[in-house]
Amino acid sequence: MTSQRTRERLLGRLMDQGIQSMQVLDIIRSTPRHIFLDEALSHRAYEDVALPIGHNQTISQPYVVARMTEAIVNSGPIGKVLEIGTGCGYQTAVIARLAEKVYSVERIKPLLDRARKNLKILGVRNVDTKHTDGSLGWPEKGPFDAIITTAAPQQIPTELLEQLADGGRLVIPVGSDHHQELKLITRRGNDFESQTLDMVRFVPLLRGQVQH
Ligand code: SAH
Repeated sequence: MTSQRTRERLLGRLMDQGIQSMQVLDIIRSTPRHIFLDEALSHRAYEDVALPIGHNQTISQPYVVARMTEAIVNSGPIGKVLEIGTGCGYQTAVIARLAEKVYSVERIKPLLDRARKNLKILGVRNVDTKHTDGSLGWPEKGPFDAIITTAAPQQIPTELLEQLADGGRLVIPVGSDHHQELKLITRRGNDFESQTLDMVRFVPLLRGQVQH
């Protein structure tokens, strides 16, 4: 189920789909994805698919995690990172291996509690989390070298653009439920360069907080 061979097969798939950064591939290889899933689904942990984690949410597809992480690694420094949508904490754990400090926010409290537990199990210490509506970012902790959004808004919230450092990058899926473009936005002073990286399908970025 979590055999080395199954994990290597996943790595092969990521490379076939164009992931080139050895650093990113190594981190995916050595980050156990099964601990983020319920036991009933853990046998599927190394398939390249998004899987349910409860509360109508999903753990991101490994290819998409690799793609978003690679986009940030390849485009500049990666000291301080903000993640919107902690979910179970998988992407958080991956980016925490590259950043000095990660700030991650989640609107569903039970998911955040689980993510905190998962990150502790993995011994990840450079992550601060907060239960909040992340469409407003985390202004007190900015500006950020990079912001990763793992839920899709219809339009990019200006608050996130404002919290980018000069040269900072925002990786974000934008669009409707069924059709989203993964965008890489780079801040140059008060200009924002936009690039489309891929077509993706994320859960929507929703407003407000959920307590239970
Ligand atoms: N990063 C996760 C993906 C989780 S799915 C992983 O690596 O697997 C996206 C998450 O974004 C969900 O948990 C959802 O609750 C959360 N989310 C959606 N809208 C949000 C918002 N406005 N603020 C914070 N989190 C949000």
